[in-house]
Amino acid sequence: MTSATDDKTIVRDYFNATGFDRWRRIYGEGEVNKVQLDIRKGHQETINTVLGWLQDDGNLADLKICDAGCGVGSLSIPLAQAGAQVYASDISEKMVGEAQERAAAELSPEQIPTFEAKDLEQIGGRYHTVICLDVLIHYPQDKAAGMIAHLSTLAESRVILSFAPKTTFYSALKKVGEFFPGPSKATRAYLHAEADVVKALTTQGWQIERKAMNKTRFYFSRLIEATR
Ligand code: SAM
Repeated sequence: MTSATDDKTIVRDYFNATGFDRWRRIYGEGEVNKVQLDIRKGHQETINTVLGWLQDDGNLADLKICDAGCGVGSLSIPLAQAGAQVYASDISEKMVGEAQERAAAELSPEQIPTFEAKDLEQIGGRYHTVICLDVLIHYPQDKAAGMIAHLSTLAESRVILSFAPKTTFYSALKKVGEFFPGPSKATRAYLHAEADVVKALTTQGWQIERKAMNKTRFYFSRLIEATR
């Protein structure tokens, strides 16, 4: 078994068990502790940034979008609500099951995305835009580059990714255990150098279009949009 396989198995098991309970609450509206509330707010900023970019373009209702590693549907549901045709999948059956329930509660039947429990490297098809938010943090750079390469084969015009950036400051925080305090206890958290992520994208023929950084005390995520 390679270490990458180990990472994937650990991540899937985590998001089907304790990680599911934790992240379903963080990505919800109920009461949570202060750290979780901080992460909830930071993550919502990432979602809002992506929605803002897509809405600014004015063609969301015409787009076929893949949300790879969709979690509980935090992005897929508003995208579907805005009229996009959404395919959403996640390696965790529990996370995708929760996404399906939330979508059924919040959307009309014709808006409901196609959901699947699937490793993102098994996704097929072609989409105008492929989005993968806060997933790469679970994988080392070599594995992340392979994932970016696969997602690139699915995307016709655009890829949007987010990752935890490797800077001196965040590397130091990670060392003292202040960084992503919850998940880092149960799964490994990997920081990625922006230059490495950009290289993985440009190698696949993408050009960087828009960037953003969303951060709170316990959450930080670099967002990159690449087009071709
Ligand atoms: N993208 C969602 C969002 O921003 O709301 C969820 C982010 S959550 C931190 C990470 C998600 O990635 C989890 O739901 C996890 O199960 C999923 N995931 C991790 N590795 C994956 C893989 N190899 N393929 C598909 N999903 C994966």
